[in-house]
Amino acid sequence: GPLSLPEGLVAVFEFFSVQLDFWHPDSAPHIVTEMEVDFRVSADQSQTVQSLLEQNEMQYEVLFHNLQEEIEKQFDDKRNVTARHSYTKYNDWEKVQYRLDGDLVTATSESGKGKAVFMDCGIHAREWISPAFCQWFVKQATRTYGKDKTMTTLLDNLNFYVLPVFNIDGYVWSWTQDRMWRKNRSNNSNTNCIGTDLNRNFDAEWGSNEPCDEVYCGTAPESEQETQVVATFIRSHLSSIKAYLTIHAYSQMLMFPYSYTFHKAPSHDELNEVAKAAVEALSSLYGTEYEYGASATTIYPSSGCSDDWAYDQGIRYSFAFELRDQGKYGFLLPESQIKPTCKETMLAVKYIANYILSAAT
Ligand SMILES: [Zn+2]
Repeated sequence: GPLSLPEGLVAVFEFFSVQLDFWHPDSAPHIVTEMEVDFRVSADQSQTVQSLLEQNEMQYEVLFHNLQEEIEKQFDDKRNVTARHSYTKYNDWEKVQYRLDGDLVTATSESGKGKAVFMDCGIHAREWISPAFCQWFVKQATRTYGKDKTMTTLLDNLNFYVLPVFNIDGYVWSWTQDRMWRKNRSNNSNTNCIGTDLNRNFDAEWGSNEPCDEVYCGTAPESEQETQVVATFIRSHLSSIKAYLTIHAYSQMLMFPYSYTFHKAPSHDELNEVAKAAVEALSSLYGTEYEYGASATTIYPSSGCSDDWAYDQGIRYSFAFELRDQGKYGFLLPESQIKPTCKETMLAVKYIANYILSAAT
């Protein structure tokens, strides 16, 4: 439906839309009344934005006075470029790749299992906790097989296809050039603006917008190589893939289709039950609170999303996670939170996988 915005907020954001980097929600049109909005603004505009917010009687809090300092602080200790891959640290692409060549790949074998789960991480470059989780998942799968009863049952009966970094070019860019990079790194014609938002590039009520948008959909559904590869893989494994999980950050939410419409998905009630129980499992470890529900109502409506697309392909259990936190650190979640975040998220993922194993479909 039409979004009603407080006039002051419209004025501020319209005036500054070019210079604001929205963290949550991910673009200005997603802002609704009473919503808490996180955004980044350059140092030289910060005063102007603050006075505009004050003039419009908008409550605000400066979370990071110096973002560069925070970027350094997300690492536990001084970044050691020669250090090896670690599951409790953020790993650059080279380290992830090194680990992939090692024990990650052994996690799946396609031997006669009828059901599969597809999980991707890192579709948005700056959401570093996401690839950290996919790596953690594979580590746990390989190391606890034969020891942990649930994991053993899951791996004996399900194939897991895990894509640890969906958007590799973007991820590399977020390490080397711009920590806050979101899109992929494709060139767009007739503009200097780089990149497509891969989570707007799927063929699910795909809608067009401008290349300079942070949520640019691309020139057509699956116009991007990354999207094409994943969509093609999933299409060719549709008979076995029963669950699609896509891991994002941040906001602590577990969502299911649809994003592109407020209409309930055909299996809405069941998905809602599964999400509820998965969130309970997650919270049982540290009490981390998650919201859950259909994406359009829980977060905001958007089109071209991978989870909607997967669902419409017939994958009945399609879920999108938004991992920690709720905005204190946002994309700059400290490394000290990688382990607890991964451990609690594992419980939700295991719950969902177990559920589809026992479900009739
Ligand atoms: Zn995301």
